[in-house]
Amino acid sequence: MTQIPHNKPLITASDRVRVDAVLTSGWIAEGAQVAALEREFVQLLGGGAACAVSSGTAALFLALRGVGIGAGDRVAVPTYACSALLNAVHMLGGRAVPVDVREDDFNIDPGVLGRTADDVKAVIVVHCFGTSAPVAELRRPGRAVVEDCCQSLGGPQGRAGDAAIFSFYATKIVTGGQGGLVFDRNATVAESGRDYREFDVRRDYQPRFNFQTTDIAAAMVLSQLGRLDAIKERRRAIRAAYREAASGALAAGWRMQSGLEGDGYMPYRFILVAPDRGRRDRLREAFGSAGVRTIVPIERFELLHRYLGISPEAFPVAERLADTAVSLPLYPALDDAEVATICNALRRLS
Ligand SMILES: *Cc1c(COP(=O)(O)O)cnc(C)c1O
Repeated sequence: MTQIPHNKPLITASDRVRVDAVLTSGWIAEGAQVAALEREFVQLLGGGAACAVSSGTAALFLALRGVGIGAGDRVAVPTYACSALLNAVHMLGGRAVPVDVREDDFNIDPGVLGRTADDVKAVIVVHCFGTSAPVAELRRPGRAVVEDCCQSLGGPQGRAGDAAIFSFYATKIVTGGQGGLVFDRNATVAESGRDYREFDVRRDYQPRFNFQTTDIAAAMVLSQLGRLDAIKERRRAIRAAYREAASGALAAGWRMQSGLEGDGYMPYRFILVAPDRGRRDRLREAFGSAGVRTIVPIERFELLHRYLGISPEAFPVAERLADTAVSLPLYPALDDAEVATICNALRRLS
């Protein structure tokens, strides 16, 4: 039986035309398309500056560097997040301080941060799966806030912190295969990223990296950004269909991630939280038999406090989510028959 994959990019004929124009132009490295992508983001986010780079992780590194993080600095991170956060902090010589998340929307818990890590120099705030993390509550004088918008492109997030970063990896809201971007309202962070991303033929010598992206990737992302509203509409419609089909399960003790209800939100994932681990694992088997691939968004061993060798007692919410959360396919490349198959599987859930 052919399986419905958990994720799949939607590349349209017009995306291909746009990329083909770059391929035939004679200029495929960073150039006019990258500059156009940066302008597009500044417009999308309502003014500021943008610097496109090779990945979301590179963008995170540049954002932290741009807000002044260096050797020995402590940076708070939600523990229920991918290890890109640790990599960016550690590559700068900083120390990551994991913080537990909230039960309802899976975002970093400002109360826990206040009790356990109030002295950090910066916080990476991931807007988990498209929801909005509480940026205002995390702000303090002398503390920088970097918004990780890799899962929330097209939503209301990105202007509340000192910098924001995005990813164009294959499974994200829009994709160039790989890619990332740093944005800030004041332009200082984006400008320092621009200085760092290219080392060739510079007047002064300082250690820099090659974090450039290509005009090929930028053209693909730009083409997809042109239909961001349609992407949001389709994702929201699929989410609404799942929610309806899951009503029996929701009455029987399952729950959905909250925080994606408002009109402005771009749902990145459809997450169900099972009453216990056994029921979650049985759902995965049943969906597998029905031809639907699911994933555990973050496994226990991936929780950032576990990677750091910190004992799990202080992270009860993230530990529970690792055991009970499951992610279903949610992307515009799903056709109506596939959505119906997933809805049928949801109706059988109890
Ligand atoms: C994907 C992702 C990243 C890393 O982006 P890459 O482009 O894969 O390097 C960082 N943070 C979050 C929340 C992500 O979803």
